[in-house]
Amino acid sequence: KTSYKSDIEIAQEAAMLPISHIAGLLGIDEEDWEPYGRYKAKLSLNLFQKLETKQEGRVVLVTSINPTPAGEGKSTVTVGLGQAFNRIGKQAVVALREPSLGPSMGIKGGAAGGGYSQVMPMEEINLHFTGDIHAITTANNALAALIDNHIHQGNTLHIDPRKVVWKRVLDMNDRALRQIVVGLGGPLQGVPREDGFDITVASEIMAIFCLSTSVKDLKNRLAKMVIAYDYSDRPVTAGDLGAEGALTLLLKDALMPNLVQTLENTPAIIHGGPFANIAHGCNSIIATKLASKLGEIVVTESGFGADLGAEKFLNIKARYGSIKPSAVVVVATVRALKMHGGLAKDQLADVNMDALKKGMPNLEKHLHTLKQFGVPAVVAINRFVNDDQQEVDFILQWCSENGVKAAEANVWLNGGSGGEELARTVLHVMETADNTYKPLYELNLPLEDKIRTICQNVYGADDVQFSPKALKQLSQFTSLGWGMLPVCMAKTQYSLSDDPKKLGRPEKFTIAIRELKASIGAGFIVALTGDVMTMPGLPKRPAAMDMDVTDDGKAAGLF
Ligand code: ADP
Repeated sequence: KTSYKSDIEIAQEAAMLPISHIAGLLGIDEEDWEPYGRYKAKLSLNLFQKLETKQEGRVVLVTSINPTPAGEGKSTVTVGLGQAFNRIGKQAVVALREPSLGPSMGIKGGAAGGGYSQVMPMEEINLHFTGDIHAITTANNALAALIDNHIHQGNTLHIDPRKVVWKRVLDMNDRALRQIVVGLGGPLQGVPREDGFDITVASEIMAIFCLSTSVKDLKNRLAKMVIAYDYSDRPVTAGDLGAEGALTLLLKDALMPNLVQTLENTPAIIHGGPFANIAHGCNSIIATKLASKLGEIVVTESGFGADLGAEKFLNIKARYGSIKPSAVVVVATVRALKMHGGLAKDQLADVNMDALKKGMPNLEKHLHTLKQFGVPAVVAINRFVNDDQQEVDFILQWCSENGVKAAEANVWLNGGSGGEELARTVLHVMETADNTYKPLYELNLPLEDKIRTICQNVYGADDVQFSPKALKQLSQFTSLGWGMLPVCMAKTQYSLSDDPKKLGRPEKFTIAIRELKASIGAGFIVALTGDVMTMPGLPKRPAAMDMDVTDDGKAAGLF
């Protein structure tokens, strides 16, 4: 039996080029990038003015079917496809999200790709990187401190302490902090109230960070964030508190996108990192736009399946960023399709054509969704070494019978050379297929109908059921003038429905909307379904248990 190197072993053996070299490849002048160590750099936002007349490159979005808990290999395919484009002579730039420490320490592992398709330096990217997520955490918590201080110092804004909606955040899975009480200990310690923590990557500031197009836009959005309601139930904003200047200051360096490289020295920009199940799931607009100015093709990723990340990319990010995706790559794996076909998790390695066949409707539904957006799609079969050829052939055959272009991606095992066929297929589709991309709903549709559109057209639900609380919020938000905003759904990633156990392509189900949340600065209304949590917990045996540092200072057990 062949044994394969772990991601970190491959990463530690790789020969990285100095980041100056990568900046040089993209033609970036020395004054427009700032080194953060030898292999990372922050890019100046002045580049936008300098590149104003340069034509934008094509944007390829990578998404997937509903994933297994380990992930489907979207980041791996994104990196591999970027490497493959460069091998066939197209200057591609990879644009990814910054990994959160929550899943890294918890169950899912890092988010820097895998095998021979990784971004480097993977240890740093997976840990503190250039500190952007820490800066976002700090900005969020500075605002929390300002709110509690305002209430303590006399509360001239008449904030009702029972209606503070701004939560504290931490970039960790820490279930014990979901609901807390602050301000205990007497008058000198502030005003007691119920509070709670979310994970940083679910915060509104993370979303704003990713949707802003300039420092000015960032500041305007930060000012609009609703932090609480007053005793007359009127919204109070961060701008009312006068906090937006300080928050922008805390974020100004973080807002510059981070340049790194892949194992094959393809340039990669990694910036911003909201989760896709409880937030909008896409890297920053600034990074994607800059990558499209710097390269001929940007390969970017949105989180989880096409029902979450891609829906939000196409309905929210692309709309705010005026981005027109040229193609969408849908990553599928043999094992996840078999899981959707009813095979138990411990049997996914067995050849089972029946389960595979039964799992195909999950892929079919995501392709159907992308068709509604009018974007051309390509299926990438992320190949695992134990996949049987007849299983892979079956998927290819199914795609060809259904008029969908598809190719294997052997990028985990072989790096860019394993993705050349996929790259050529995507190129061909971008050059020949019709592209009538447009968001699925108009902004003037009532909030309720936007939610219904997503649930019915993207998830395949029969109907939507709003809780009494959600119904009240629908009318409150609409009367406050927020009805024109897009909707950001919070839903489990494992199923098209709001029940993580319903795999495949569930039918005859209703989506239950529990509660809404106004992210006015980000510019969307969050609709929470089922029991999706904005602060995840750690599993029984967290990945952190395997992590270590050797005596000579090398990271170990980081995937
Ligand atoms: P996603 O972006 O969909 O969450 P990732 O690309 O982060 O998924 O991959 C998740 C994990 O699976 C990584 O540890 C990666 O090394 C591993 N992986 C991905 N593709 C393959 C493959 N073809 N064979 C083996 N392992 C893979």
